[in-house]
Amino acid sequence: MPTLVDVEREAMSCTRCALHRGRTTVVFGVGDPHAELMFVGEGPGEQEDLEGEPFVGRSGRFLDRLVQEEMGLTRDRCYIANAVKCRPPGNRDPLPAEIEACRPFFDAQLELVDPKVIVTLGNFATKLLLSTGEGITKLRGRVYPRGRRLVVPTYHPAAVLRGGGETRAQMRADLVRAAQLLAAPTTVPAAP
Ligand code: URA
Repeated sequence: MPTLVDVEREAMSCTRCALHRGRTTVVFGVGDPHAELMFVGEGPGEQEDLEGEPFVGRSGRFLDRLVQEEMGLTRDRCYIANAVKCRPPGNRDPLPAEIEACRPFFDAQLELVDPKVIVTLGNFATKLLLSTGEGITKLRGRVYPRGRRLVVPTYHPAAVLRGGGETRAQMRADLVRAAQLLAAPTTVPAAP
């Protein structure tokens, strides 16, 4: 069984899709390798590509603040990853083929970190976890079991920064819900 460090080492030299041509750094993931809470974003932006760490730009600082305010957590207590590990040029959306090419890395991260609660940030991460074409506006506000884990879909922080106060309040409420799930003694009820 490979460790997270093994998987990261492999990702660092990945050429499975064209995104590797434009990257400065592979942005694998960061945080507690045994975190109970995992955040999943879309893909690295400019700052993340330079620093090799997810969510270190403007939306990342906003995410850090909301997570601190609503969940009382700092980023080192969670694990943060993206659907794709290399920056799409010009911050365009990742293509389905790019997400698929990166999926073995994501699946390994999920298995190895083994979080109880996953907060998906925006449409791409939510689709990756819930395999649905439904948009985030419809999906958020509820909790979805995924095996023994629980998925809490919410908006991408960049969308909230662009959007109005309503999305901000909704994202805050989603984070509070995730904190409540973390504090609850069990995830999915045991079969009778
Ligand atoms: N947006 C994302 O989806 N991920 C990052 O790491 C940064 C911005």
